Amino acid sequence: MISEQMKQLVSGSSLIRAMFEEGKRLEAHYGKERVYDFSLGNPNVAPPKEVEEAIQSILQEDRANQIHGYMNNSGFEAVRHEIAMYTNEQFLTQVKKDHVIMTVGAAGGLNVLMKTLLNPGDEVITFAPYFTEYTHYVHNYQGELIVIPPNPPMFQPHLQQFSDAITPRTKAVIMNSPNNPTGVIYSEETLKGIADILEKKQQEYGRTLYLISDEPYRELVYDGAKVPYVLNYYKNTFVGYSYSKSLSLPGERIGYLVVHPEMEEVNLILSGLNVATRVLGFVNAPSLFQKVIGKTLRCKVDISEYKKNRDVLYQHLTSIGFTCLEPQGAFYLFVKTPIEDDVEFCAKGKEYQLLMVPGRAFGCPGYVRIAYCIDHERVVNALPSFTKLAKDYGMIVEEGE
Ligand code: PLP
Repeated sequence: MISEQMKQLVSGSSLIRAMFEEGKRLEAHYGKERVYDFSLGNPNVAPPKEVEEAIQSILQEDRANQIHGYMNNSGFEAVRHEIAMYTNEQFLTQVKKDHVIMTVGAAGGLNVLMKTLLNPGDEVITFAPYFTEYTHYVHNYQGELIVIPPNPPMFQPHLQQFSDAITPRTKAVIMNSPNNPTGVIYSEETLKGIADILEKKQQEYGRTLYLISDEPYRELVYDGAKVPYVLNYYKNTFVGYSYSKSLSLPGERIGYLVVHPEMEEVNLILSGLNVATRVLGFVNAPSLFQKVIGKTLRCKVDISEYKKNRDVLYQHLTSIGFTCLEPQGAFYLFVKTPIEDDVEFCAKGKEYQLLMVPGRAFGCPGYVRIAYCIDHERVVNALPSFTKLAKDYGMIVEEGE
């Protein structure tokens, strides 16, 4: 018999499963081409060609080097060195290879961090809307996730509410920018505000407070937008990075953590992350893809594909009366629903073969997430379905009606 906790997780995930099943049912009924699945954050843009070239050349060159063998639990030193140098070059930091830990994607990195930091009952704060898997990553280590309510319409975190939520049990804060699901980049002013509050509260409680910046979408930004580097604002910071989106490699499970070189007890923290990687059973990040990253870390996917989708969708949705922010990054639109009930709105969307995720899945009811990392042609073909949906809610009235 599975554990009580797992029973709850299984029944909780039935919503996602139900959506998946619904997608299959719609495809069987209408044909794959006529189902507009905006529900998943699975990149449709191909990895840069350099990734394939790197795989080929590593497999050719590196046979004698035990490419498939175990290594230090924190990853290959040469790759960590490359990442540290590139980080310093971009953000004027002082990171060394020792401050970089290779991880099994961003998800693996966050679990390694939680394992290293949390005592049972510790609180971890995050800002809605947020990536809901954080709940599991914190619960996995008997922590409690405290969610600061969303702050529409701009969705920059509400700093006073954040400050009020910090208690003597607070251990860490997880933030995500560019944000899934809003596409918002947290401003420099927001980051300075978060850092100031953390400094003050550390003093007040005599306890270290960690800031964790989850950044899988760092490279996916539009119109020259800049994402401030959190390490430059607060000493007790970790950055979690992933190549799932920047190189379109989500199935390869590769990313890294950067630890601020001046973090309190930095050596103990680094040893903790190393041991957590081992005892959680990851042992190390995938070896071939660590080496691939060593050769391709300056490459990025062609984000013009996402921008094309963003522009056409944003333009169409706002022109037919929907309200949403123009995303600065990532590949999601977060749209206000014309009725309060976002689940009912998603059900209505399915009548026009539109699959979207209710905002409440991100701690923000009254909105839906539209993931536009799908083929452009499919996006364009979906526009009439959005128009029909808008008409159903009386947002546009046909002439003569
Ligand atoms: N964090 C956020 C905000 C995400 O959106 C995702 C994936 O969609 C992840 C973490 C997990 O990414 P990875 O595939 O690198 O584990």
